[in-house]
Amino acid sequence: MFKIVAYGVRENEVDYFKKLNKYHYDVQLESELLTHDNIETAKGADAVLLRANCKADAQNLAKLNEWGIKYVFTRTVGFNHIDLKAAAKYEMKVARVPAYSPYAVAELAMTLGMMLFRHTALATDLTRQGNFSVSTATFSGEVHSSTVGIIGTGRIGATEAQLYSGMGTKVLGYDPYPSDFAKQYVEFVEQDELLAKSDIVSIHVPYFPGQNDRLIDADFLKKMKPTAVLVNTARTQLADYPAIIKAITQNQIAGFASDVLPDEVEVLGHDFKGNITNELTKQLVDLYPKVLLTPHIGSYTSPALTDMIAVSYENFHQVLET
Ligand code: NAD
Repeated sequence: MFKIVAYGVRENEVDYFKKLNKYHYDVQLESELLTHDNIETAKGADAVLLRANCKADAQNLAKLNEWGIKYVFTRTVGFNHIDLKAAAKYEMKVARVPAYSPYAVAELAMTLGMMLFRHTALATDLTRQGNFSVSTATFSGEVHSSTVGIIGTGRIGATEAQLYSGMGTKVLGYDPYPSDFAKQYVEFVEQDELLAKSDIVSIHVPYFPGQNDRLIDADFLKKMKPTAVLVNTARTQLADYPAIIKAITQNQIAGFASDVLPDEVEVLGHDFKGNITNELTKQLVDLYPKVLLTPHIGSYTSPALTDMIAVSYENFHQVLET
């Protein structure tokens, strides 16, 4: 029987793996992410199934190849964690999940944007401290009569545009390849105009190494309104964190939220026991409630997880059929 070792499987995901296994593959569920230290757990398998931050670098792929493992799957859209050159060298087949519920990330981006815009974190903090007098710092506009700017109006960005439009919010968008779906909800403008006019700016562009590293830099931030807030649920490499920290501390922009953290790219070896080891992450945490951080939970919803696992099983099935 085709054997798959799935890495980074959280406790509440086990039932999804069992329930959706309609082809009855032999699936070994590992709670740990794939690292250099636990690569031996793949021995004897036909395929590995990864998630973001699993280490599928040249060293680990060489080991998999040595053990005859020719299938590397990831249950994510992104595949920055897989060394594709090494995989090609060993003639490995690599498959990802090209799409899953776009509402998962779109809703989180909206939640974070609206929390910043309506000063929700500050307000709940004040009441937790027993301060029930209305602070002027919590005075705000209203989302429905504001302007949202969405950079990257693909599946997630266009879904966010659709949801904001339902609230009556004006939606500006910048995307070199606007889809017909997005055009229903978005007025397309150049990026500079979007930044100058938007009250909430939301980033949904993929990261292309060497092309859009640090898209959100000092120049980008200078073009935003000082009252505007910025949300990045896309990728950490798109953000120039020192520039963002400066823009927040100097009140160049009013708030920043991120579902992707500065140390994500080198997350292995970092401490998940409550100690923040990355200096930039520490500085961002200290800027709460003007800065809100979530630990890459954008796609951590039941519908998205169902899609990811079901499509992964379909990927195995297709590969075995061809
Ligand atoms: P998509 O491919 O459907 O859409 C991306 C869009 O960005 C495309 O329309 C493309 O034309 C546009 N684009 C590319 N470069 C651009 C640029 N420089 N300026 C403006 N637009 C540009 O992707 P998607 O499914 O909407 O996902 C977007 C990104 O969200 C992913 O690449 C991933 O990095 C991120 N993501 C995050 C999470 C999370 O958990 N936080 C989950 C899934 C995806």
